[in-house]
Amino acid sequence: MHTMRVLIQCLIVGAILFGIISSIKRKKKILALTGMLLAIAATALGGSSVPINETPHGGLAIGLDWFLLDLFLMALIYVPLERLWPQYPKQGTFRNEWTLDVVYFMSTHLPLQILSFLVLLPATQATKYLGVPVLQELIARVPWFLQFFLAIVVADLAEYFIHLALHKVPFLWRFHAVHHSSKALDWIAGSRSHFVDDTLVRGFILVPLMFGFSQSIILAYLIFVTLHATWTHCNFGPNARWLEKFLVMPRYHHWHHTSQKEGIDKNFAIHFPWIDKLFGTYYYPDVWPERYGLDGQEIARAFFWQTIEPFTKRKRTP
Ligand SMILES: [Zn+2]
Ligand SMILES: [Zn+2]
Repeated sequence: MHTMRVLIQCLIVGAILFGIISSIKRKKKILALTGMLLAIAATALGGSSVPINETPHGGLAIGLDWFLLDLFLMALIYVPLERLWPQYPKQGTFRNEWTLDVVYFMSTHLPLQILSFLVLLPATQATKYLGVPVLQELIARVPWFLQFFLAIVVADLAEYFIHLALHKVPFLWRFHAVHHSSKALDWIAGSRSHFVDDTLVRGFILVPLMFGFSQSIILAYLIFVTLHATWTHCNFGPNARWLEKFLVMPRYHHWHHTSQKEGIDKNFAIHFPWIDKLFGTYYYPDVWPERYGLDGQEIARAFFWQTIEPFTKRKRTP
């Protein structure tokens, strides 16, 4: 608890300091002022010494911690990488529509993240119904690291097929089009996803994992997928040639997001490029794409309408 209070205090002081620096250096003062106002409001409400009426117990208390940690950690890991080695240096951290993606991060990505973990906390219950004992025993005999690797393979195969369906079934594409509407990619662009899309993908991945894998493996996978999926959307130029054959790198997933004809409906796998090779949907030239976003299709631009529109739209305009 003490560490959390120190962290909160540091965040408030940091917000005010960076607000001052930003207001000096940037022409637009609105971000700096909003940040400082929020920090002052947080202090006025009690800051890090705010009294806690009830001791948080188990389950739901994980929510707020994750909320803070996820946003804080993700920004801490990926923003410096994008600032140091960007593929598109002119894009900047506060690019067009970044606020829309923050809204998605807060309202869709994070709650679903928390929900996945919460579903897994009482997972012993779920695995009781879903688990196949023979399979569980067989997998449990394998070394932990191999189990983990196997879980990624199973998850990515499941992800491949639901992702393919999201592209090929017109009704599902309406939801997935939201994820493809980003015209510039970076760490937070990956959060732009309709909640139906996110829920479907999560469900398709988690259910097969629950057939045979232990809770610790599934939890490890959830942490891995959060880090790796965010990473593949990053505006990050460097590439490890030896690694990109085995593991999806940013340039690989960027080709999935291109609006150029040659990249449409390619690279569905999120972890292993060889899965796309296996099913004939692999496309990986040596260069980066030039354009991103939807291929001629228009969708609503505001979060609220993007959420409503897929339920109401009648025809598909691919
Ligand atoms: Zn897609
Ligand atoms: Zn993506």
